[in-house]
Amino acid sequence: MGDMEQGKVPVNSETKVYGVYGDPIKQSKSPLMLNRAFAETGINAVYAAFHILPGRLEAAVAGIRGMGFGGVNVTIPYKVEVMQYLDEIDESARFAGAVNTIVNREGVLTGYNTDGIGYVRSLKEETGVQLQGKRILMIGAGGAARGVAYGLAKEGAGTIYIANRTADKASELAAILKPICEAQGMGMEGIVHIKDKVDLVMNTTSVGMHPNVDQMPVEPDWFRPGMIVSDLVYNPLETKLLREAKQRGAQTHGGLGMFVYQGAYAFEYWTGAAAPVEAMRDAVLRSLRGNN
Ligand code: NAP
Repeated sequence: MGDMEQGKVPVNSETKVYGVYGDPIKQSKSPLMLNRAFAETGINAVYAAFHILPGRLEAAVAGIRGMGFGGVNVTIPYKVEVMQYLDEIDESARFAGAVNTIVNREGVLTGYNTDGIGYVRSLKEETGVQLQGKRILMIGAGGAARGVAYGLAKEGAGTIYIANRTADKASELAAILKPICEAQGMGMEGIVHIKDKVDLVMNTTSVGMHPNVDQMPVEPDWFRPGMIVSDLVYNPLETKLLREAKQRGAQTHGGLGMFVYQGAYAFEYWTGAAAPVEAMRDAVLRSLRGNN
């Protein structure tokens, strides 16, 4: 395997530094994915994982300015806290209530949220769906759901039904969405009343994620051909929910694309160059399959 495939780039005095801030950070696939992207495009940059300990986030953000980093990604548990240390917050991040990407423009730090738009780009490219006017059931109302709901509303989704274990959180998210999109919040028991109306079902909860791979957020007996069933979970790559949906003739979409495209948008905001999406996907897939 050559240096490029391994995501290695030569480092010199011109090399731009990027990275990801989180705690823990060891598990992050972002360094593999973004270093591969820089190598593929010949951009002189490196991407490192920074383990930011509790209480050190403000200093770490000052470090972006101080050391002239090009930008960083932000992951759990800092996506909300980081907002107060930035100079500008983009609409995507304001809506999602969380920042996952910071761009440093000559010392001015702007926070973006690329999770929602990353999800939508992956959904459209991998399924070919036109979201305009579609009726969508979103299961879950957590952090990821907010970003995804924003992305769907921006695409002109018809109605977004939000069903969550904690019904109040679904209603809150629906109220936030209403100025830009038709939305209705409910508890899980509400699904029975709308299930025959929806074109697209998406799981934004962590149900079905490794190690609980036998769990599903809903019973799949009402899935049907013509419906798209999508899962944000990408470990495993095909969840039980998606397997059951496929068996009932529905089109399925897994969570890996969201991860790849949220990184692709960050890359594009930072460099202005088109992201080498297939190489980025390959880097993550190799790692998930234990080849890296
Ligand atoms: P979060 O803010 O903690 O929200 C978790 C959501 O899951 C809530 O709606 C919660 O319901 C629900 N939930 C959790 N356990 C449940 C259970 N046993 N039964 C029913 N509902 C349950 O988490 P998040 O950041 O939104 O992440 C959610 C999932 O999205 C995770 O699996 C994460 O891996 C995935 N994700 C994927 C990507 C990607 O790039 N593909 C990006 C971000 C997140 P309550 O409100 O009732 O607690």
